Amino acid sequence: MIDFRSDTVTRPTAEMRDAMASADVGDDVYGDDPTVNSLQAYAAERLGFESALFTATGTQANLLAIMGHCGRGDEYLCGQSAHNYRYEGGGAAVLGSVQPQPIENEPDGSINLDKAKAAIKADDIHFAPTRLLSLENTIGGKVLSLDYQRQARSFCDEHGLLLHLDGARVFNAAVKSDCDVTGITRHYDSVSVCLSKGLGAPVGSLLLGTKTFIDRTTHLRKMLGGGMRQAGILAAAGRIALEQGPLRLFEDHENAEYLSAGLARIPQLEINPASTQTNIVYARCRSGKAVQLRDYLADQGILITAGDPLRLVTHLDVNRQDVDRLLEAIRRFYQLL
Ligand SMILES: *Cc1c(COP(=O)(O)O)cnc(C)c1O
Repeated sequence: MIDFRSDTVTRPTAEMRDAMASADVGDDVYGDDPTVNSLQAYAAERLGFESALFTATGTQANLLAIMGHCGRGDEYLCGQSAHNYRYEGGGAAVLGSVQPQPIENEPDGSINLDKAKAAIKADDIHFAPTRLLSLENTIGGKVLSLDYQRQARSFCDEHGLLLHLDGARVFNAAVKSDCDVTGITRHYDSVSVCLSKGLGAPVGSLLLGTKTFIDRTTHLRKMLGGGMRQAGILAAAGRIALEQGPLRLFEDHENAEYLSAGLARIPQLEINPASTQTNIVYARCRSGKAVQLRDYLADQGILITAGDPLRLVTHLDVNRQDVDRLLEAIRRFYQLL
């Protein structure tokens, strides 16, 4: 099967499986797992923070960040299409008692800072105190500009807000922004990063911040059932993902660009190739035959997500030949071959 549904589908490499099999482990709830400790120390340095915490998922890392920054009855500002508003089961509200204040994202994925300002609640007994602005980069495959993120930092300083980045794919953003990842992360009080997407680890994410913040969120992680024991088995693969994964993300971006150009030559599809910035490609079926197309491709051993638009994701388990196979199969579906 060639799988374009998501970059979460990547399988651990032989090197990762070897590292997992031979990982030095201990009980991480006691802080005794050397492989987890070493991953956390390495990640903190790599992303420019005092401390890091290994978490089960990106969802858990975002929830810990929101709960770590906001108290019960507080509020966080986020995009209407933010993962930590839309796709995390309402966890911040349900488990953290933190109210989201979503703001419509601009077409480039940013949150207009004037709109954010208007959403900050005045000091008044009627209102939930606004504590945090949460941004996402990349968002829907789009990259926030470095200049915008600098402005967002100043905005938060000016208004006494904390600033979190859902950086599930922050390394993809760094590649596209042509900077070291710290050129992005330096603007934030906390950052979450997925090891299990394009970086290739089977499981795991990281939360980064000050030592005090990470101590607080380590307690919250335990409370939420995320205190894992010999987690070094997972951290061993995560370490390889963090060290090596970022070096090859440019290939995923090149394959996504190549795929977009190929899709643009298929008249039955609607796509603006310039909108593909990283590893996620969106295209619309003009005929609305997305489900038929998905089923046809599945019969050929190719998996895609049949939304409107279609969403196609490149990652380390698909190469240029696989992209060619996908394009050829789509042309056959539309009887162009
Ligand atoms: C995937 C993703 C997450 C959550 O990660 P999981 O490990 O699937 O919980 C959070 N934010 C963004 C932007 C994501 O793409």
